[in-house]
Amino acid sequence: MKVKRFRHWAILPKIMTISVVSVAVIAGVVMFYFLPLVERKIMDGKKEGTKYVVEVAFGILAGYDALAKSGQLTEADARQRAALEVKKLRYKETEYFWINDRASNMVMHPTRPELDGTNLSDNRDPRGTFVFKEFVRVCNEKGAGFVEYLWPKPGERLPVAKISYVKLYAPWGWIVGSGIYVDDVEKDMARLRWNMAIGTMVFAALILSLSLFIGISITRLLKNVIGGLQDIASGKGDVDLSKRIATSSIDEIGVLSSEFNGLMDSISSLTIFKKVIEEDDTLDDVYFRLGSVFTEDLGLGGCVIYEISGSQGKMRPVYPSFVATGELYCNADILDNHDLCKAKRTGHPISSLTYPRICKQFSVASGKEHFCIPMTVGGGTVGVVQFAFDKSDTFTDSKENERRLFKAEQYIKESLSVIEAKRLMNTLRESSLKDPLTGLHNRRFLQEYTEKLVAGAKRRRTLVGLIMCDLDYFKQVNDAYGHNVGDIVLRETASIIRTSVREADIVVRFGGEEFLVVLFDIGAGDALNVAEKIRVNVQNARIKIPEGVIQKTISLGVSEFPADSETFWHSIKYADVALYKAKEAGRNKVMRFTGDMWTDEHF
Ligand code: GH3
Ligand code: MG
Ligand code: MG
Repeated sequence: MKVKRFRHWAILPKIMTISVVSVAVIAGVVMFYFLPLVERKIMDGKKEGTKYVVEVAFGILAGYDALAKSGQLTEADARQRAALEVKKLRYKETEYFWINDRASNMVMHPTRPELDGTNLSDNRDPRGTFVFKEFVRVCNEKGAGFVEYLWPKPGERLPVAKISYVKLYAPWGWIVGSGIYVDDVEKDMARLRWNMAIGTMVFAALILSLSLFIGISITRLLKNVIGGLQDIASGKGDVDLSKRIATSSIDEIGVLSSEFNGLMDSISSLTIFKKVIEEDDTLDDVYFRLGSVFTEDLGLGGCVIYEISGSQGKMRPVYPSFVATGELYCNADILDNHDLCKAKRTGHPISSLTYPRICKQFSVASGKEHFCIPMTVGGGTVGVVQFAFDKSDTFTDSKENERRLFKAEQYIKESLSVIEAKRLMNTLRESSLKDPLTGLHNRRFLQEYTEKLVAGAKRRRTLVGLIMCDLDYFKQVNDAYGHNVGDIVLRETASIIRTSVREADIVVRFGGEEFLVVLFDIGAGDALNVAEKIRVNVQNARIKIPEGVIQKTISLGVSEFPADSETFWHSIKYADVALYKAKEAGRNKVMRFTGDMWTDEHF
């Protein structure tokens, strides 16, 4: 089996391997270096202790010798008393001293008194050492020293390893000695070794379980994070965005967990946000929601969203909903020429934080900094989001500011596709409700919006004026100059009618060369005046055609809703009826509908 390179291992085996190796090395050092060192130290300590106590016994001999020398005792008495005193000496309960002379005669042995007075020159231990000769030799050579040999413990017969310290008291020719049994030391050592071994094992168990715990918590966290990220990356529809990692620690694991949770929070809030705006009714609702996220959730006050109308070269503020031109941070000229807006023109964010006064259109007088993000879809810019800050806010916490702006960009990115789709829908809708030749609303528009128009008028309790218009002898234009010239005349007439009424009034191309004008909030009789104005304007118009100039007249029928009929479409019909009366009356006329014009009971 091929073993993978260490750096390719998973984290848990890595951590565990490092721990096992470290524990093994530590145990090895303890067992093979530290323990022998300690054992040596203990042995040396014991020997040192023995040497010290022998010195004490030696002192007793010297003390009695001094008494003898001063004449207080005879030398024989002094020797006897000294031997007696040393005989009684014990340390560590059982350890004793003996005295022999330079001829290997036992002077005094406390535990084996039968040896007293005997010559032990021939005493050999099982290893063949002449024990007493060795004492004498060491003392003769150095005056004192250690001797290793075998000797039975007190009360036992079997000789065991012993290390003794012997020292010669030269004036009397006595050698006083005491020793330690090696196996006693070994027992101490064994206990020490056991303690060390248990200690090392506890240490190893602790280290290994700690590593295992850390390793498992890291791997579990990473698995969660990786799983979550893979889910997101896979882009599957059923990603569990509520997935969070429980954490209480404040170490890197805790930081990673909370960062991951933060990421999931932003992703889920972004996803929810996108779902919500997808279901929003109008583009203005989307802009409002986007603006609210910036100002309320992200705390980016001073936010203005501009919508760009590519065809007209205009931009208009769409958030906040009601903002006066004077309240904008930008020169109002940008509203009529969107190419003055640098963010729109360049298609990338424009920030006065990176380069002061970068955009000439931004008001210096406002004393604010700006960060303008273009909303770019498919190479075209559909809007610009502007954030304006107070200088002081910006510099107190620029990191926090950057973080908020970054989030704002995420929201913008997320909403772009929705904005684009809704804009497209709007255009499609608009074009489906518009007449392509004249640019006026078509009949479908009227059908679709009738309910709203009527409801508004009823609520306001106002009159709606209806003017049905039909060009006189229009067929002749087509016949004389061809259809194209007919179209020119139609377009021109549409434009004359449009400019003859207010912006809020609706002009509909009702049929081929018939137009319906819907006037709102008028007084009684006003519609007649407007109709007359249209008639005069058409009559006076000199319409340029390739062949020169032509003049046309128009006939108009007027009715009022709900004055003439409670039903909107009946009122339209009445305007049409009046129109035919105008035709009958000789054309180029305005006729107000009257009840007698309509006798039919059915429509
Ligand atoms: P009147 O004064 O009685 O209204 O006479 P008129 O010739 O205008 O008669 P009418 O309203 O019946 O004729 C409408 C003509 O308008 C018929 C049609 O060829 C023409 N027309 C309808 N739609 C268009 C169009 O889109 N373009 C052009 N060039 N002509 C159109
Ligand atoms: Mg006509
Ligand atoms: Mg007609």
